[in-house]
Amino acid sequence: MADATAPYRIRGETGEWEVVIGLEVHAQVTSNAKLFSRAATAFGAEPNTQVSLVDAAMPGMLPVPNRECIRQAVRTGMALAATINRWSRFDRKNYFYADLPQGYQISQLYHPLVGEGTVHVLTDEKDEGSAKAIGIERIHVEQDAGKLMHDQHPTMSYVDLNRCGVALMEIVSKPDMRSPAEAGAYLRKLRAILRYVGSCDGNMEEGSMRADVNVSVRRPGDPFGTRTETKNVNSVRFVQAVIEHEARRQIEVLEEGGAVLQETRLYDPGRQETRSLRSKEDAHDYRYFPDPDLLPLELDDAFLADCRASLPELPDAKRKRFELMGMSAYNASVLTAEVETASWFDVLLSHGVDPKQAANWVVAELFGALNRLGVSIAECPVSPAHAAELLKLVADGTISGSIAKTVFEKMLESGDPAGAIVEGEGLRQTSDTGAIDAEIERILGANADKVEQYRAGKQQLFGFFVGQTMKAMAGKANPQVVNERLRAKLG
Ligand code: ADP
Ligand code: MG
Repeated sequence: MADATAPYRIRGETGEWEVVIGLEVHAQVTSNAKLFSRAATAFGAEPNTQVSLVDAAMPGMLPVPNRECIRQAVRTGMALAATINRWSRFDRKNYFYADLPQGYQISQLYHPLVGEGTVHVLTDEKDEGSAKAIGIERIHVEQDAGKLMHDQHPTMSYVDLNRCGVALMEIVSKPDMRSPAEAGAYLRKLRAILRYVGSCDGNMEEGSMRADVNVSVRRPGDPFGTRTETKNVNSVRFVQAVIEHEARRQIEVLEEGGAVLQETRLYDPGRQETRSLRSKEDAHDYRYFPDPDLLPLELDDAFLADCRASLPELPDAKRKRFELMGMSAYNASVLTAEVETASWFDVLLSHGVDPKQAANWVVAELFGALNRLGVSIAECPVSPAHAAELLKLVADGTISGSIAKTVFEKMLESGDPAGAIVEGEGLRQTSDTGAIDAEIERILGANADKVEQYRAGKQQLFGFFVGQTMKAMAGKANPQVVNERLRAKLG
């Protein structure tokens, strides 16, 4: 296994190179209405059925900021331990595009809503040594554009304005990442935090989270090189592929004596390559200026207090709490990686089960079952209450660990509670020495040769006798009692 703490280097023709990565993540804000209009935002609606006069940029329409969108962006900033700017302002970013009827995007350049923050990542879940803090530069809110459809008609393109005006958070990282693995860990962690907070559903396939990938290369220790920006990459895997591809392309250019051009590129997942889209425009090309239709945003104490009070326990805090309960670092990490898992597990804990036993069972047995069934934990056929009942039956010795596996299978099939299955099928564990002794006598009698070998020193045969006895008792004998009785009889 690669050492996650060793610096990531790419070997070129002339020596080693370091990769520098910064990500600009566009995250669609979870909100029923758009950033400046009351039109709906549901995904998958018929084209142009969710477009208000504001979104269609009819003359004389005025944008009105949606309080909920601002609230979600502020909560996100707080979850990233970022500075919240009480005073921020909207700017117009002017450009012409067929899916942007206004001719400008309302965004925030000069005074964003959220300033610097931090995302803590582990590149390797099993290794605390791979921990790293990635800086957030800023978060601003802005409008999304519509969507052009080029594949509906042989000679015409259509435009769907449903997405036009939907609120986005642009979460800009510092150029702090140094490998595809770190970028992946950052994106996954960011996505997890957004989903815990509930400010974005994090669904990359539906486009509610996409990344612009900034990549440059340099000799270790040198100043930053010129970067390229690859737009709208919509999966963690693609982001990592873009980084690798771009880094190698730039290294080739530099090693041949050329210079990297600061430009915007597009990723083609089919060909697994990036290609130039346009040379990078500078901020002044957009003629940014404060939007005269909108007052600056001023946040008061009550609003900020409400945002903070509404934050849930976040993944890092939850992981620490789980570790303090005695769970392994790995279990605590996988149990908190996704908000659905963490919530399910918290409900399980609330039923008073042993945290360590519960964590082991969920990670080994429950995850295994969900994998086999191909369902998410939210669709798990066994409720946390029923799972708690099963764990308690094991903990108090009513059933053995191996019988618990059988009971769990039956729970998955029938949805019945554990206790009912155990009683209905007579699966209680027995410590009845009479019954156990009788079986032991029979087994030792039938295996006289093995008994002799054991007594002559072949200690490993003990396991054989235990196995035979458990089998004869249909797995229901208390293993501890079986061990004791066998030792007594074998002398
Ligand atoms: P712009 O406003 O032109 O988009 P920014 O300074 O805001 O430029 O940076 C955009 C993104 O590019 C940020 O995520 C930042 O971390 C990243 N970035 C900046 N410089 C570099 C570099 N030399 N290599 C890689 N990424 C970089
Ligand atoms: Mg940018």
